[in-house]
Amino acid sequence: MSTDLFINGEFKEAKEKQNIINPSTGKAIAQAGVASLKDVDSAIAGARAAFDQGEWPRLSLAERKDFISKISQGILDNAGELAELESLNTGKPIKETTFMDIPSAAKTFEYAANNFERFLSSEELNVSGKAKAVLRREPVGVVVLIVPWNYPLLIACWKLASALAAGNTVILKPSSLTPLSALKLAGIAHTAGIPAGVVNVINGSGDKIGAALCADRRIDMLSFTGSNEVGRKILEYSSQNIKKSIMELGGKSASLIFNDADLDTAVNSSLVSIFLNQGQMCTAMSRIFVQDSLYDKFVVSFVEKARTIKLGPADSHETQMGPLISENQRKRVIAFVEKAKAEGAQVLCGGKIPQDPALKNGFFFEPTVIIDVKPQMTISKEEVFGPVVTISRFSNSDEAVKLANASDFGLAACIWSKDINFAERVACQLNSGTVWINTYGMFYNQLPYGGFKQSGFGKELGREGFLEYTRLKNIIIDQSADSRPLVNYWYGF
Ligand code: NAD
Repeated sequence: MSTDLFINGEFKEAKEKQNIINPSTGKAIAQAGVASLKDVDSAIAGARAAFDQGEWPRLSLAERKDFISKISQGILDNAGELAELESLNTGKPIKETTFMDIPSAAKTFEYAANNFERFLSSEELNVSGKAKAVLRREPVGVVVLIVPWNYPLLIACWKLASALAAGNTVILKPSSLTPLSALKLAGIAHTAGIPAGVVNVINGSGDKIGAALCADRRIDMLSFTGSNEVGRKILEYSSQNIKKSIMELGGKSASLIFNDADLDTAVNSSLVSIFLNQGQMCTAMSRIFVQDSLYDKFVVSFVEKARTIKLGPADSHETQMGPLISENQRKRVIAFVEKAKAEGAQVLCGGKIPQDPALKNGFFFEPTVIIDVKPQMTISKEEVFGPVVTISRFSNSDEAVKLANASDFGLAACIWSKDINFAERVACQLNSGTVWINTYGMFYNQLPYGGFKQSGFGKELGREGFLEYTRLKNIIIDQSADSRPLVNYWYGF
């Protein structure tokens, strides 16, 4: 399979190619085109022309709606192929891509098509007896969407659906590890009749093309999801020509399990909250805190069940946990576990590469549980982005809140308790953009999502996520009775 770049409405052969690796086997599954700086320039020029001279930003959302709904339908029509592709490219078990990533991606477009129109209507304000104002929502312009490898299609769709519904033109840059589903999405957008230049997809290494893409004067906005390290670079590039940015960055999320929680539910759900997608989730609950009297039972049950999670290739329906995305990522995870041990923590289960010969070529790593951690240890502070969790105890809710908030990140948190009023009070004290009570990982197209502190700024999804892709203009109209505004008299002429 060979995939190219999608620029200005056409698939374009790239001069340079790269191998795309299946993390379950370590083998190449495709060759993807890699954008040159000239390709970046063409994509920016195409998106700029489509915004400045094209019809897309000038259509109403009612008129754009048909195209956006067709993208949703296109994703559903290709759901099987997309699920396989995503699974093959990311190592995400096929059950996850089939039931989560792909249908959720389609729903995001459907929701954008049917629900955002009302947020675009202009508002009239009588600001004084002599003036009225019109507040008008407009698209921002040319928007660069940069997405990570952990949810390549879904995160691309979160950004793309809002950006397109608002009338922007876009350049989507997938991670160079996982560009396949984004290129398929380009084909779906093309078939849906999206005009040339409105959607451009260019694969390429961030180090090579990032600066050219993000610092360019012709770009109006950057929407980035990824690591803090790269987020900082992107903010530097964007500062060269001052651009609106949204940053969805890393996390070190905490789950608080109180004495009155149902043990089995808390254990089963907490396993998912860290081991789903091999722990490669920005909202992974990588720090679990359990109240004193439940702690021992929780740890025994959690470890017992973690040991039985079935590792296997992503394309098998039996697989509960696939491989990590790459050998580099696995090395990074191993280094975190080794450092935790060196700093005095204890590994209760996992912490190593599985011995099963059937898995030897993939980038597998066992579900890992670490105890005896202290807040100042690296494992408590830094994002591992792998199947590694620490479990610690607390005595009361004040201590639990203090422990949960003792992080530079503020993306998400979980609370497990039968007392909902109490749980809500605790939620209000947590320094996190999202708090789940007695559940985990539920994202809704209606609800804005985004982190606090080092987890970034700006929202995805919901009204606020959509409005990020708009700019607000105020038009002030003089209404003085003699048609001579105050400014007319200032110099006394
Ligand atoms: P990453 O930061 O390495 O890469 C993200 C994207 O940035 C990729 O497309 C990459 O090619 C690109 N990139 C890399 N260097 C660049 C540069 N110099 N200029 C421009 N673009 C560049 O992140 P990753 O490893 O793909 O994903 C994991 C990270 O993403 C984790 O930190 C995770 O927490 C975060 N994440 C956050 C959210 C959220 O919503 N907050 C969601 C998913 C993932």
